[in-house]
Amino acid sequence: MAHVILVRYGEIALKGKNRHEFEDLLRDRIRSAVQEAASPGARVEKAYGRIFVHLPVGDPGPVAARLQRVFGVVSLSPAQSVPATLEDVTTAAVAAMEHTLAGRSIEPASVAFRVTANRADKQFPLASMDLAMQLGGALLDRFPQLKVSLKAFDVEVSVEIRDGRGYVFLETLPGPGGLPYGASGRGCLLLSGGIDSPVAGWMVMKRGVKLEPIHFHSFPFTSERARDKVLDLARVLAGWGAPMKVHLVSLTEIQKTLRQHCPEPLHITVLRRFMLRIAERLARSIHGLALITGESIGQVASQTLESALTINEVTNYPVFRPLAGMDKSQVMDLARQIGTYDLSILPYDDCCTLFVPRNPRTRPKPEEAHAAEQHLDVEGLIERALAGVETVVVKPGESSGLLGGYTGL
Ligand code: ATP
Ligand code: MG
Repeated sequence: MAHVILVRYGEIALKGKNRHEFEDLLRDRIRSAVQEAASPGARVEKAYGRIFVHLPVGDPGPVAARLQRVFGVVSLSPAQSVPATLEDVTTAAVAAMEHTLAGRSIEPASVAFRVTANRADKQFPLASMDLAMQLGGALLDRFPQLKVSLKAFDVEVSVEIRDGRGYVFLETLPGPGGLPYGASGRGCLLLSGGIDSPVAGWMVMKRGVKLEPIHFHSFPFTSERARDKVLDLARVLAGWGAPMKVHLVSLTEIQKTLRQHCPEPLHITVLRRFMLRIAERLARSIHGLALITGESIGQVASQTLESALTINEVTNYPVFRPLAGMDKSQVMDLARQIGTYDLSILPYDDCCTLFVPRNPRTRPKPEEAHAAEQHLDVEGLIERALAGVETVVVKPGESSGLLGGYTGL
């Protein structure tokens, strides 16, 4: 008997001509994930409609948990792989049942089971239904105290026969779905230290977007810890994808200039216009195709539709706002699932929480922003900010230690 994880994928199978590219990318992502889970000797193999992870050791737990964070994976099942003979499959099914009963505290007499068989390999002499009946009978012979129930079962023994092998498994774990990380090209996430933007980044990563986050800070007015927090957030995201470059941009000069030369109610609007302009230039320089923000309509004063219109005017780049229609509570639930929540709520200052105007314009008009920017050296400020960009590569599993070695999950 050999240990294997059956990995199922869905949407990418629909991608027509690109199908092979997508499958190869998913296989590569699975390979890296398996390596990350430190499983020496594991082998990843692509077969029609499935990816198999062959494991040299018995405990599939750490690899399976890591695979549940690979986009493109719909579900997975740790399985035993045996030659496709009735005898071998029966032995594996009995062993699997024995194992699961040993791990349960309840009496076998109160355990109901069913067998589900899927014969994809027509060389195998029994059709799916007949195979299920045979295996059910063999299990009852061996464990007479068990009951069979097709509807209300505690244990499901699943068997797949394909390409000359039999696969026997008891559980199917969900994957995150979506498209393999990197399948859709590169995008720049405007990553603050808040709850929303990491979730927005995760949502586009799920659609195959490779992220290069951009973070704006106001060092020394914002702290080293605020920077560590953002890098840790990026590390959690990297745990769902791959190592990523984070671009750190100082807004200190721009904020100082706005304090002196921009009417206070328009600070946020003009600052956001600078952020978008800088983000677009940076994205262009790294062949990024889109910007992504964590804005949600109406959530705060700067996220009214009027404000979005006035801010968005400075860029021709597509700006995706995957949280546009979500409530804060939904975003918070997702943040917890992704593993970013505990970091996001750490109380370190963001550049936007400094110099908060007392009476911000909630419905700023484009003309007001134009008038406010008229006396500013917009181009010079952007160029100097871009000249000072610092780029850091973050890797999954690393941590600055803000949350005691926390790595997200
Ligand atoms: P978040 O929780 O993501 O900070 P928020 O609800 O606090 O969002 P704002 O602070 O108004 O909303 O920010 C809106 C969006 O602008 C953020 O989701 C993020 O994409 C971007 N943004 C805000 N501040 C920064 C920053 N310092 N660096 C990079 N992007 C930022
Ligand atoms: Mg914020």
